[in-house]
Order: sequence, then structure tokens, then C-alpha cells
Amino acid sequence: MRLLLVEDEARMAALLKRGLAEEGYAVAVAGDGRSGLAMAQSSEFDLILLDIMLPGIDGFTIARRLREGGIRTPILMLTARDAAPDVVRGLDLGADDYLTKPFSFEVLLARIRALLRRGPAPHQVQLTAGPLRLDPASHLVFRAAEQVSLTRTEFLLLEFLMRRAGQAVPRATLIEGVWGYDRDVESNTLDAFIRRLRSKLEGDSGTKLIHTVRGVGYLLRAGGEE
Ligand code: CA
Repeated sequence: MRLLLVEDEARMAALLKRGLAEEGYAVAVAGDGRSGLAMAQSSEFDLILLDIMLPGIDGFTIARRLREGGIRTPILMLTARDAAPDVVRGLDLGADDYLTKPFSFEVLLARIRALLRRGPAPHQVQLTAGPLRLDPASHLVFRAAEQVSLTRTEFLLLEFLMRRAGQAVPRATLIEGVWGYDRDVESNTLDAFIRRLRSKLEGDSGTKLIHTVRGVGYLLRAGGEE
């Protein structure tokens, strides 16, 4: 597996490179934004570890340019700033996950494994189900002509259900698909997110889009018509 590490702090980069190499990854290092972007554009990697604060071009811009250029390599952002807007911005621009520095190396490895399992994002096509339209590239969701504002987790949950529209998706599959790796997610958490998703998507329209399948999980109606 080939990883690209874009990190300007030389000590950090060397440490990560050595640790990752010991785990069997081939790691290329870019020490600034410009060379990071160039390497990511010109060479095939299985994953990009992307620092946000970089000389030259910052990590946000790199993520956006790669996605705009159709490069779907998974991106794990490394951020020293844990401010929520930063993280959301990174994810909106096309990053797949983030880690706040300082992080444990074990956690980094777990996140890398999870992203590699998921592989490159599938070719981005808009998903539709009834009145819903979801654009995986821009992370925008519309109900009819109206944009629906979702949190990252709500978005992932909806995307997971839309990709399986018309099928009853087991609870465990949903939890694994949305929260994934090594995280204990209570069943209640899933229900809470489904409730919020329903209220955002269905409002008081009277149209039920997400259905509970007793003893199994949830189903998003494929057609959406009552
Ligand atoms: Ca930095």
C-alpha cells in the first residue's frame, strides 16, 4: 500500500514515515503544500495523509483541488486545530476522515486501515430516491428543490441508506457502514440519528421516507411515493 504524507514538520514526518514503514506501508513524504498537491496529482496512492497548516498551499485547498480534478484517493486530514468548523470544512471539501494532533499512532493505524478497506470513493454520481437527491461530491442533499442541511454523520447515514434504497438494511450493517472501525456505537445512537434525519427530511410533509423494519433495521423507500 502506498501512502502520501503531506506534512511540513520534519520531525513529525520522519516519525510517522518510520512508524508506517514498520507497518509495511510505502510512504512518500511531501514537506509543503505545492509538492504535496503535485505528487498527489501525478502519482497513484492508496491513501493521502494531509496536514492542514502547510506552507504554500494549505490542506483544504489540496483536498478541494484533488476532488475537483476527479482524484478519489481517500484523504485523512491531520489537524492541530480541533475547531469544529475546520473539521467540517475539510470534510466538505472532500476529505474522508480527520485526526486531531496529537494522536496516538494506534488510532492513526486504525483509521488508515478503515479508509483503505473502504477504498477510493466510487465514481461520483448523484443518488436519488423519491424526492431526495444526494450529491456525494459536493455533500449536498436536496429534497425536491430545497436544500437540506445535514451533519456529516447524518449525511453518511442517508448516503448509506440511499445506496441501498428499497432494501431493509440491518442495524449492525448501518452502524458498521457509518461509524465503522473500532468504535462502540450504541444502538440508541443510531435511533437518535435516524430520528433527526427523519425530522430534517420529512418535516411535517406527511411523506415517510425512512421506514423502520421491525427486528431488522431501516429502509429508505426507493420511489418515495405514498
Ligand atoms: Ca503543519
